[in-house]
Amino acid sequence: MGTMMMIRSKLESKLVGARKSLPKGAKAVLSALQQAPEMLSARDLSFRMKLSHQAHDDKGKSPGLTTIYRSLELLTRHGLVQAVSFGDQEKRYEVVEPGHHNHHLVCKSCGNNIKLKECLLERLEETILQEYGFSVSEHLLELFGTCQTCQLAKNINNTDRR
Ligand SMILES: [Zn+2]
Ligand SMILES: [Zn+2]
Repeated sequence: MGTMMMIRSKLESKLVGARKSLPKGAKAVLSALQQAPEMLSARDLSFRMKLSHQAHDDKGKSPGLTTIYRSLELLTRHGLVQAVSFGDQEKRYEVVEPGHHNHHLVCKSCGNNIKLKECLLERLEETILQEYGFSVSEHLLELFGTCQTCQLAKNINNTDRR
């Protein structure tokens, strides 16, 4: 347990260092993503950054799509940003606590997503280590289905038809 804690705090100080040493473009992308009320695709991000550039009458250009893609890749590698796949072509991105990650419930009807309060897979990883001797270092999990609002709307439509 003690060693685990030490590894974790070492990792976090490394990530704080990484945040400081980020290139200018990546810092801009990170702060734009931090201000966003929801997850954004690279395209959404580019659009938002252009708008805020115009609003603030900034000198110089807002980063192009290539810089944004490259920055997102770098931020993801540093564990500062998480890429989320919603089952379509475009990945969405959100800022995460260094070394942490989120899981989402994605509604296939309206596209809304709900963030899970906790990772439900940590116990599963322990079981896998015990039963298979396999040490899991990372995992991906997004759950697709129908949100409560869409379920209710569907039920109302069904009763109307009767
Ligand atoms: Zn829905
Ligand atoms: Zn997890």
